[in-house]
Amino acid sequence: MSDLNLQSSTIELSKKALANNIEFLKQKAGPGVRISSVIKGNAYGHGISSYLPMAESCGLSHFSVFSADEAQKAIMARTNTDSHVMIMGMIPDDAIEWAIENDISFYIFERGRLEAAKKASDKINKKARIHLQLETGMNRVGIEEHEFESIIQYLLSNRDFIQIDGICTHFAGAESVENYERIQLQKKRFKKAVMKFRSHFDHIPSVHAASSAALLTYPDTLYNMVRVGIALYGFWPSREVYMHLQKSDRREGEDPLKRVMCWKSTIMSVKEVDEGHYIGYGKMYKTIGCEKIATVPIGYTHGFGRNLTNSGYVLVNGNRSRVVGLVNMNMITIDVTNLENVKRGDEVVMIGKQNGHEITVASFGEMSNNLNYEVLARLPADIPRIVK
Ligand SMILES: *Cc1c(COP(=O)(O)O)cnc(C)c1O
Repeated sequence: MSDLNLQSSTIELSKKALANNIEFLKQKAGPGVRISSVIKGNAYGHGISSYLPMAESCGLSHFSVFSADEAQKAIMARTNTDSHVMIMGMIPDDAIEWAIENDISFYIFERGRLEAAKKASDKINKKARIHLQLETGMNRVGIEEHEFESIIQYLLSNRDFIQIDGICTHFAGAESVENYERIQLQKKRFKKAVMKFRSHFDHIPSVHAASSAALLTYPDTLYNMVRVGIALYGFWPSREVYMHLQKSDRREGEDPLKRVMCWKSTIMSVKEVDEGHYIGYGKMYKTIGCEKIATVPIGYTHGFGRNLTNSGYVLVNGNRSRVVGLVNMNMITIDVTNLENVKRGDEVVMIGKQNGHEITVASFGEMSNNLNYEVLARLPADIPRIVK
């Protein structure tokens, strides 16, 4: 009975697509630049426990998470103990010892955290591996320039407890040309800070600032590691980044990234509805002729947002079918009037490919910069992930 799949949808992960994306991004990064695979938000909805071993088998060995709980999932999922896990955000103070014990490196963004790391290291007699997160203009978290000197002194006198694995920063929106000036300033500040830290420490193993968008559009931000999330999964950080690449690489029309995910369900029921009747709750959609309406058992519970009411699309038998009427908690209704042989049990694709046609997350709803990220991250953890 354990193989029985009771879920109303599944998410297939394509190893071939991931290998393709790694190849493309490696080529973009160039030699000597390590790719850290960002797997926060349950690997952008792909599922840490399914994605991570697949990524390892494609050659990735550095993984970035936001928080300690995600780090624990990553450690449990990895198949190679050499795969490294880095926490870019939150660890409760009393979990620092646990992180050190498990060789997890973590961001230090303020003096108090550095002191907590030293204390934990002293207590368990093992060095803490840290990345100094420097404030360069995002104004969220990070060590300020005026603190650099005292932090450097603290690190120099606590070498037995703290090992600098890296120094880093994060850009405030490299995916939009709107933020160009701000990124330029951040780049300048980071470069200066890197010089300062390098003058005090013989070897800083990783210097990293770029995410997907910076990797693809600001080649002078790569240093020796990049933290790549969205692009490894085969999605673009924004349309602007896609356009930029299409122009600079002269590869118009061809998408070098392949979607790793395919989110599928099946048709639950089909019925014909005469002209002039409302479909589903309320008066969101009225038939304009005799229409064939199919139901699909996914809804906003599963991350198929209510904003896709009367506007989202799915693929059925290789055709695009429009969502008609309200997106319900567990169901959508779609117009399949033009599909002749459509029947219960037919495959429906919400994100991904079917017979050469594709639904990207972007066409999943209205365009907005972060829609990709949000839609992916909201896909529930309990949808089965199947590696293909
Ligand atoms: C999410 C995140 C990334 C990855 O961003 P993508 O746009 O998905 O490549 C990199 N660095 C930090 C600090 C992040 O939070």
